[in-house]
Amino acid sequence: MKTQGVILALLLAANSNGLFAQTTDLRGFSSKSSVLQRTLEERFDQQLNAANIGRTIKELSAKPHHLGSEQGKIVAETILKRFKDYGWLDSKIERYEVLFPTPKTRVLTLTEPIQFTASLKEPAYADDASSGQSGQLPAYNAWGADGDVTGELIYVNFGLPEDYDRLEKLGLNVSGKIVIARYGRSWRGLKPKLAYERGAIGCIIYSDPKEDGYYKGDVYPAGPFKNENAAQRGSVLDVMVQPGDPLTPGIAATQTAERILKEDAQSILKIPVLPISYHDALPLLSALDGPVAPESWRGALPITYHIGAGRAKVHLKVASNWNRVSAYNVIAKIKGTVYPDQWVVRGNHHDAWVNGAADPVSGLAALLEEAKAIGALLKTGYKPKRTLVYCAWDGEEPGLLGSTEWVEDHADELSRKAVAYINTDGNGRGFLKAGGAQQLASLVTDIAQEVPDPQTQVSVLERRKSHDLVTGTTLKLKKERFDLNKFPLDALGTGSDYSPFFQHLGIPSLNFEFEGEDEGGEYHTNFDSYEDYVRFKDRNFDYGITLAKVTGRTLLRLAEADVLPFEYADLHVALKGYVQELIKLGDDLRESNAQENRLINEGKYQQAADPLTVFYVPRNKPVVPELDFANLDKAIAALGKSVENVSLRATKALQDKKERAGLSEILYQAERQLLLTAGLPQRPWYKHSLYAPGLHTGYSVKTLPGIREAIEQGDWFEVTKQVDLTAERIQQLAVFLATGLGTK
Ligand SMILES: [Zn+2]
Repeated sequence: MKTQGVILALLLAANSNGLFAQTTDLRGFSSKSSVLQRTLEERFDQQLNAANIGRTIKELSAKPHHLGSEQGKIVAETILKRFKDYGWLDSKIERYEVLFPTPKTRVLTLTEPIQFTASLKEPAYADDASSGQSGQLPAYNAWGADGDVTGELIYVNFGLPEDYDRLEKLGLNVSGKIVIARYGRSWRGLKPKLAYERGAIGCIIYSDPKEDGYYKGDVYPAGPFKNENAAQRGSVLDVMVQPGDPLTPGIAATQTAERILKEDAQSILKIPVLPISYHDALPLLSALDGPVAPESWRGALPITYHIGAGRAKVHLKVASNWNRVSAYNVIAKIKGTVYPDQWVVRGNHHDAWVNGAADPVSGLAALLEEAKAIGALLKTGYKPKRTLVYCAWDGEEPGLLGSTEWVEDHADELSRKAVAYINTDGNGRGFLKAGGAQQLASLVTDIAQEVPDPQTQVSVLERRKSHDLVTGTTLKLKKERFDLNKFPLDALGTGSDYSPFFQHLGIPSLNFEFEGEDEGGEYHTNFDSYEDYVRFKDRNFDYGITLAKVTGRTLLRLAEADVLPFEYADLHVALKGYVQELIKLGDDLRESNAQENRLINEGKYQQAADPLTVFYVPRNKPVVPELDFANLDKAIAALGKSVENVSLRATKALQDKKERAGLSEILYQAERQLLLTAGLPQRPWYKHSLYAPGLHTGYSVKTLPGIREAIEQGDWFEVTKQVDLTAERIQQLAVFLATGLGTK
């Protein structure tokens, strides 16, 4: 998995007068320590070796190594041995027993008007040594229900809520039918979930060449894009409700853990679902009759796209082996000498859907290169002040299983000790993308300013900024981006292993990746291979090195800082921005509902609406009241005062060691204050009051999620309740930063 379409948290211009900005010292370091730290980081860089990253990618992606496979265990053991060889003597495998469905039966047949049986096969390629290996998981969507269904086929575009609204306006519904949706625009798991909620009995997801195939460029193996037979695997576990083993919600999936019944698991899908290639989708879509699909619904197959439903019928039969398998997390520690009970944690998963050279091994190779470099520093006498914890997770692909179970297992200790969690999940080439806790934006900016881009030799910050300027779609946006004096740190939704740390335990987290110049269609297919990676992703592993420099520096900065380099002023600015977005959301909704009601009441709706929607009887939209955010504003104002105080305290502590006692604990524990005791509505596992993935919209982040989702659902009573609950958490953060007194 990886993040998709995370919303930009624009930290507009504002506020560069953070804690440490006036000096040339490193943020969080005294003058003397800054000199030492710079030397340490130079020595770290000298240990990084691109060819070695290439060798690691080749070795660890040599064979298919999904969760529960023999090779998966071998990969974990190889990683363990590497850590030990590098000098990380306190390294071990921590094992959990998790449910993991693998395909037993996959049948898809068009039964009317003509017979066609889908091949459901990805071919081997002559230029790709691993593409024909045994032990590959075929294309399937893990956690779809077992089922044997026959029904009319209906095309639902991307299967988004607005697509179903459009169908309704066309007088069509999916009840009792089998939907076919194209990949893209939303997280795959939402497609069958929304189809099920609307009464569909089965779901087929295919890759249309428009988003993912010949329309984009040359197809594999001639080029990097998806060819007609490749299909995207992936999980449809409802991680928006809760990631991790679905049978042990909230607790670790140890051998003896008490498990719920599969039938009671909240996050397992209720209808069968199957991903297919565009070769297999073409006969199905060709057989559809009914209305011609609206223009925006048409893909790039050589047919007139129809919606159905009518003559085309399909038979879909899917069954899985619902086995319990072992997940092997590799955990390596180096104890801190000054603050052993402050942990800086780093992770990337090691399991792949097939060979996974890009996802996840390219990120894992950077992580191992960092571990090797730190090990070499240890041999020359380096001792970290804070404890370093390096993790290679198993079972990420099916739903963050390894990381979630480990976090649930060690929740108390992590809550007390974890300073931050730094995640990667594969790597490409191009521009630095980073998301995370907003008080880390200045640290990320510092580091992005220092690390050179291997292609242009300007800093990765400059390179990113140029890219953002060129791609700004309006003059206003370009101006905003030009004035931005910080790295545009996204807010985090989900899609990788940071979720349990960040959204469940309130551990400040970061996620890094280089991307933008490595487009392709290999994601979760059998051609995410070493051959593909060196041809189309990061040929010389330059960006692998650059990623290791960015993540390694972040770790070393957090491990060695005199005072943790957290700038709550950045969070304060971001929060004000989030509230502005909520106000705009309410205003826009109020205006658009009022506008639609005016048209309906004046009988003008039919003229204004889509000419295709002749069957549609418009219903009046709810009136949106003025929303009261006063409590939120008050809390944010209080936070502003606390932030000033803690900034002063941090500046003093850099001059005077006596002032440091307890300050770093306050700085990293502060995020815990933002956790909602009862969690978010309908998903208590998600406890963070500022960031969550969208319950109804997928991976992408919802900031101030309790309030935002209540507005989107039109539940005004809930809006008031969520405003109060969120304001209470922000107020508590203000108190905690000022006094160090928590409620937990
Ligand atoms: Zn991944």
